[in-house]
Amino acid sequence: MQRILPRGEIEALDHNSIPRIKLPERESVFAVRAARLRQLAADSPVADYLLLMARLVDAQQRALAHCHAPEATEDRISLAQAHGMPPLQAVGWPRDPLWRKVLEQLLDDVAGGQDVPAEAVEVCAALRRALADDPESVEDLADAVLAEQDQGVDGAAAPFVMAALQVYWTDLASRFDEKQLPVASPFGVCPVCASLPVASVVRVGGQFEGYRYLCCSLCATQWHMVRVKCSHCEDVESVAYQAIEGRSEAIKAETCDHCHTYRKIFYQDKDLNVEPVADDLASLMLDVLVGEAGYSRASGNPLLWHGSEED
Ligand SMILES: [Zn+2]
Ligand SMILES: [Zn+2]
Repeated sequence: MQRILPRGEIEALDHNSIPRIKLPERESVFAVRAARLRQLAADSPVADYLLLMARLVDAQQRALAHCHAPEATEDRISLAQAHGMPPLQAVGWPRDPLWRKVLEQLLDDVAGGQDVPAEAVEVCAALRRALADDPESVEDLADAVLAEQDQGVDGAAAPFVMAALQVYWTDLASRFDEKQLPVASPFGVCPVCASLPVASVVRVGGQFEGYRYLCCSLCATQWHMVRVKCSHCEDVESVAYQAIEGRSEAIKAETCDHCHTYRKIFYQDKDLNVEPVADDLASLMLDVLVGEAGYSRASGNPLLWHGSEED
């Protein structure tokens, strides 16, 4: 069978020395994120929210230790390979009800902590009731969150549901055999689960040195993409970098004048501790400024439901 590859994919195939993906590290992925959220909270106007999310992310690390979701079937892997599709595609995936157990654990873990804000305890209790009385409504909410639907999403509950889904897919991704990936993947989505990236990181260290990786908002896989290229529309002519003067040089917004969107890009050589989800969440001021300049976010942060405000 002969396939014609678009230009970008041919370039990607040429650079075999660059690691194509970096699967999530099961032992530490959420612990690292929680630690970073706490660090960033120390100097943040949204400290309370960052600390609440740090609790949730800590709970994710504990839940991941006991999560073992059913892997993709061989049929599914072959189908993905034949069609160049992400093998663990989240939308439409036959989720095992196990993920709702994970959600239960997260809710109990967060609500049972000390000094948790009353509103957060309330959100946990409401979701807990929904799980017991009407699990289908929670499944619907999960579908809506995964599909980034604007309608029918409870913004307060969404980060908790997303957190459970992240545990489920991070479990799958961390045990995924990279060799089973199709040779080429669709542009702009996670090659493992097909979710949108939250941000990108220019990495340091070993074989990753100096390369830019997009970071999956769901399964925490990172995948390589050349620098100075729009991660949304692939444009290379109209990309520019915006930062807040006097603030960390490790954080920029990569804006595109072709599609008028942006995603943030973090530089490990300027700050080794940058963590895509945490740093994106903690740099809302940059979102405000870039938004005022006329750019909209290319995709949301999994721990903050953006809803339909952009439309
Ligand atoms: Zn993914
Ligand atoms: Zn673009």
